[in-house]
Formats: sequence, structure tokens, C-alpha cells
Amino acid sequence: MAAVFLIGVMVFAISCGATIVMAREWEPAAGRVGVREEEALTVAASSEALPRGAVSQIQGAASESGQAQGAASEGVQAQGAASESGQAQDEAQQTPLIILDPGHGGIDGGCVGEDILEKDINLEIAKNVRKKLRKLGYDVLMTREGDEEVSLEERVLFANKKQGNLYISIHQNFSEEDGAKVRGIETYYCDTGKDDGSRRLAKLIQKQMISYTQANDRTALAREDLYVIREADMPACLVETGFLSNRKERELLASRDYQDKLAEAIADSVDYYFHPKTMYLTFDDGPSAENTEAVLDILKERNIRATFFLVGENVERHPEIAKRIAAEGHTIGIHCNRHEYETIYGSAEAYVADFEEARQIIYEATGVETKLFRFPGGSINAYDDEVYEEIIEAMTEKGYIYYDWNASLEDAVTKSTPESLIANGVESTLGRNKVVMLAHDVVRNTTLCLGDLIDQFPEYEMLPLSEEVEPVQFRRAGS
Ligand SMILES: [Zn+2]
Ligand SMILES: [Zn+2]
Repeated sequence: MAAVFLIGVMVFAISCGATIVMAREWEPAAGRVGVREEEALTVAASSEALPRGAVSQIQGAASESGQAQGAASEGVQAQGAASESGQAQDEAQQTPLIILDPGHGGIDGGCVGEDILEKDINLEIAKNVRKKLRKLGYDVLMTREGDEEVSLEERVLFANKKQGNLYISIHQNFSEEDGAKVRGIETYYCDTGKDDGSRRLAKLIQKQMISYTQANDRTALAREDLYVIREADMPACLVETGFLSNRKERELLASRDYQDKLAEAIADSVDYYFHPKTMYLTFDDGPSAENTEAVLDILKERNIRATFFLVGENVERHPEIAKRIAAEGHTIGIHCNRHEYETIYGSAEAYVADFEEARQIIYEATGVETKLFRFPGGSINAYDDEVYEEIIEAMTEKGYIYYDWNASLEDAVTKSTPESLIANGVESTLGRNKVVMLAHDVVRNTTLCLGDLIDQFPEYEMLPLSEEVEPVQFRRAGS
């Protein structure tokens, strides 16, 4: 009896000691109130980042538990594939598991504004998100259910062990710099170099939260020093839904109405993540020596495949770039051989003859025998009024399919800026479920804005066109 009792005490003493060490090492400092914004970030960094040694200890512990860890990383691979295509997710018939992480808890209140504690707001929003996500059919687990203290590594171990499909950490912000001025929403993701979906998730949540609340947009940013989103084995982000140091925003954040908007935005984002709309990025007129490779680099980095409607003459000049387009999995379509409206639209025969030249050059350079094509200027334009029906008939008979567009960067006009091209792209998309976006990989500003442009559409999955995609085609008004 005595021996058993003693062992019991020792175990208690050890676990208790461990808790104290963890609390001292990794709890956010109590004095978050009264630090400047930059310092608040540093405090957050040091509290939400674990010492390196501790990380490897935790990882060691995790890998000792063997199979569970192995299974988890397999799960992650499968899920990476799923996020590439919404279809894969549907086919797997798996209900995505969302891990919600309300920051802080217990003796760690997080930041404080008047008598409003961050930990309480975080939990209220998380519970609301859980309710909404369950209604939408998702599985949800939370790293804490009540006002309890949970260490950062416990949160991540929990998420990884449960093999969550997404990890969303919810926090509030603080700044002493200028309580009246500093306000708004920001979202963080960890940029690991391999695109696991975290970036898209963060951009998506940030965009939805701003659109639901009209709050100041402090944007979605990459940050490597936040422990939970860095160590989670799944796409992860950390949202700061507002500033408790700002009186107006603090009052909003404490209200059920505002919390509900934030929760709705987060739940919506999760749903878009798994059931995205579709966008087909299409690039005409290339390849160009100056720009096409830069476009390809960006697409590669983002793991996006697009469609290139090539000009035969340009392929003749840069066959190696055409080859690269094909090698990197993009769809190749035919635009024309010589981009001269008067010549190619002189007659249906002239069009077909020019097309045939382009087809041959593109085939020789890439080995790709494509059925996809795009009319220079679109199927109905100012030059082909007399002949377009005849051309369509001839081309359809040969088995070719033409693709017009329903959104455009308007980047073929001479006076543009990267910003105006993005605005055009966003405006012409009109929230459609299926978008065929026209762009030109021969235009410098298009290359310059492409990364930012893609970031505008986190609710879309970007796919290459294929013969199976029902084409967007112009119709004459009234027909
Ligand atoms: Zn926090
Ligand atoms: Zn063109």
C-alpha cells in the first residue's frame, strides 16, 4: 500500500513539474497588455514558437509512438492529392476533419482590452464555427472545449494524431501604438516552400472575413515563427480576428453579431476550400522569350496548370519554351500561325490553311496533337463577321473545339498597369462558378501581376482546359 502510494506521488510530482516547466517556457508572457504592436508580435513569436530543442523532443516522442505517426503522414499525402482536385476528395468519400484551435485558455488569458479576455473571444468564435461546420457536414474537433490550459505542442500533437484535414487557430490582436488607429484582421500561414494549401486557406479566410465584416484588411501573410501552424501536418493558418486594444473593434468582437459574421466567414472558407469554384487560366499569343518562362515559374511554384494557346511563328522561334509548357503538364491549344486578322479572316480556306501550319509546327516542337483552339480576337470579332460560321463548321468537322472566355485581364490593350490588370480580372469574374480567364503571356505586366492575381481567387481551383471541359463560346446577341 505504502509503495503504491509513493509511486503515485512520484508520478504526480513528475507530471506536475513538467507542467510548470511548460508553463514557464511556452506560455505567452502575462504582460501582453501595454506592449507595442511590433513587440506584441515578438512576444507572440516567442510564446507561440517553441525552442528548437523542445521541438525535436516532441517530434521524437511522436515518432516513438510509431505507427500513428506513419499513418498520419500517409493521411497527409492523400489529402495533398485531394486538395489538388476537389473531385479526388469527393471520390474518397471522406468527411474532412477540421481542427479548430481557440488560442490561449486557463491561466493564459492571451491579450486583454478593458475586461475583455482574448481566450474567451477565441473560444466563442471557435464554438460558433464548429456549429456552422457541422451543419455543413464537416467533422470538427477543438484543441480545447472550455477554459483550460493546453500547451502549444499538445495542440499540434492532437491535430496530427487525429489526422485533421485543416487546422485553424483563432486569436485576437493587441497594439498599444495607437489604440484608435491600429485595427483590422490578419491571417498567417507558414510558407514551407511546398504548396500544401496553407497559403490558399489563409487567403481564403482573410478574403471572406473582410467581405463579411468590412474590417480593415491587414492581409494574409507568411510567417515561419508560429509554432502551431508550422508544426501541423496539414494545411494550417492562424487568424487574428481583430484588435482588443481598439475600443470600437473590441466592442464589436465582444458582440454575438460580429462573432457570428467572423464564424460564418471561416466556415464558408472551409467549404470553398473543399468545394472550390473552377477557373481556367488561359494564355494567348506566346511563347515569348521575355515572359513565358516567368509565367511558367509562377505556375510551377503555385502548383497550378493552365492552358496556352500558341502562335506557330512564336513556337518556331522558341521551341524549347513550347516544350517546357508541355513538359510541365499545361494544356496546349492552337491560336494561329501568323497573328494577322486581315489575312486569316480573309476566307475560311485562309483560316484553315494558317491553322494547319500552326498545328504542324506545334506538333513538331512539342509532340502534342491538340484538339483545342482559340480564334485570334475570339470566335466573333470585328474581322470575321462574314466567315466565322463557315470556319466553325469546317473546324468542328475536323474535330476541333474552340474556347472563348468569360473573364479577361484586358492585357492586350497598350496602356495598363499590373494593378489595373488585376482589377480587370477580378471585375470580369463576377463570382461565376466556372471562369475561363483570358490573359497573354507575351505581356510584361501580366507576368508581373500573375502571382497577386492568383491570390485574388482563393475560392477557385485553377485547372487546365481539356476536351472534356464544356467550352465557353461567344454568342451573337439575340441568338
Ligand atoms: Zn493569441
Ligand atoms: Zn491573340
